[in-house]
Amino acid sequence: MDHSSKRLTVIHPISILYMKYYSINRQSPEVNFKEATIRGQAPDKGLYFPGYIPKLDAGFVKNFDQLSNEEIAFRVIQPYVGDTIPEEILLRIVSETVNFPIPLVRVNEWASSLELFHGNTLAFKDIGARFMSRCLGYFVKDQSKKVTVLVATSGDTGGAVADGFYGVDDIDVVILYPSGKVSMVQEKQLSTLGKNIHAVEVAGSFDDCQQMVKQAFMDQTLSQQLFLTSANSINVARWLPQQFFYFFAAKQWSGKHDPLVISVPSGNVGNICAGLLARQSGLSINHLIAACNANDVVPSFMKSGQYRPQKSVATISNAMDVGDPSNFVRILEMFNNKIDDLQQALSSYTISDEETKKAIREVYNDHGYLLDPHGAVGYLSLQKYLQQENLSQGIFLETAHPVKFYDVVEPLIGKSIDLPEPVARLMNLPKVAVQMPATFSSLKDYLMTLS
Ligand SMILES: *Cc1c(COP(=O)(O)O)cnc(C)c1O
Repeated sequence: MDHSSKRLTVIHPISILYMKYYSINRQSPEVNFKEATIRGQAPDKGLYFPGYIPKLDAGFVKNFDQLSNEEIAFRVIQPYVGDTIPEEILLRIVSETVNFPIPLVRVNEWASSLELFHGNTLAFKDIGARFMSRCLGYFVKDQSKKVTVLVATSGDTGGAVADGFYGVDDIDVVILYPSGKVSMVQEKQLSTLGKNIHAVEVAGSFDDCQQMVKQAFMDQTLSQQLFLTSANSINVARWLPQQFFYFFAAKQWSGKHDPLVISVPSGNVGNICAGLLARQSGLSINHLIAACNANDVVPSFMKSGQYRPQKSVATISNAMDVGDPSNFVRILEMFNNKIDDLQQALSSYTISDEETKKAIREVYNDHGYLLDPHGAVGYLSLQKYLQQENLSQGIFLETAHPVKFYDVVEPLIGKSIDLPEPVARLMNLPKVAVQMPATFSSLKDYLMTLS
């Protein structure tokens, strides 16, 4: 079917549009937003992709900087949600999603930082997790079985998911994490909430946790007893709301006469893929930069056109230690696998730990601004691109609060950083976690007790 843009450019975009999602593997039926959110992944293991990319209406593109963050978010996400959530409920979901400040802060003469870390768990994943939890909460209201969200975490995802789903009716959340391998702050974020959030401390590695979760999804008995779903970062309801960041950046961009360049610290490349989507919809971003650490699959793809997944290597920006970024197929899909077109929109750089540390120290000393290791990779990649293209300024996304990585940051600046309020409060609460050996049978027994 020809998704002509005629219907999409109406002044009032809240219309009869009915967005469908197809699997990139093309072996599964098309679904609506509700189905895609509940399933996470298509039955053929492909990622869901929107059937067409909505075009923003010209009036909106011109004047969105006059609108509140809530209104912007609503207008951007509504076409993707279609008729699966009524307007007034979507408005409430969106306002609960963007209910914290996302300021653009000037760091020096060429760099501004979009601070995405003012949410409860101090990282940008709060936005996707909050949006998804509320959509899922709405979708399961008419479900006879209670829904159980099962997720394995190496650190940050668990906290954002726990906080996002906390207190959402009819949903239990079970978070598996590797004992002794997450930071104290991260562990507190998972294990102190209680209510519908259950922390499971596994005597094993992150890979063991992931393996246990995978087995649970394939288990017949469990799927009869429970309605199991995941809160994986490939879920469309976590991926799509990340587009908001790029509108909030553009809204606050003072260099209206300069081309807009945004550098994005990248791991699984979900965030930057959302930025590319916003650009395709008509937001005027000139160029995006995938800022990577030593895990350089994307930078080497942009050079060679060859996608070569690697084993991940450990770095100080560990939320980006990804050797086979799961959202990369979505980027290729968006550009019909045409690397020339992709290169118009995207550049990518790899930054070493040494460069990252040096930048954290220098930016703090010279400009009084404290970068976290991920933001520092974004900052340095922006610098490389601006120099290469002879441009005068740009934006990088600051994806986490530096205190989350205090063990890296504090020695570099020679002083300690205070915990912000939402986290300081958690540090005094007792950890409550179920201890478990790294075997699927223990997880199965435990899940059966929840049903
Ligand atoms: C998850 C994460 C990233 C990487 O985001 P992707 O969408 O996976 O590319 C970057 N920085 C921080 C702090 C993160 O937690």
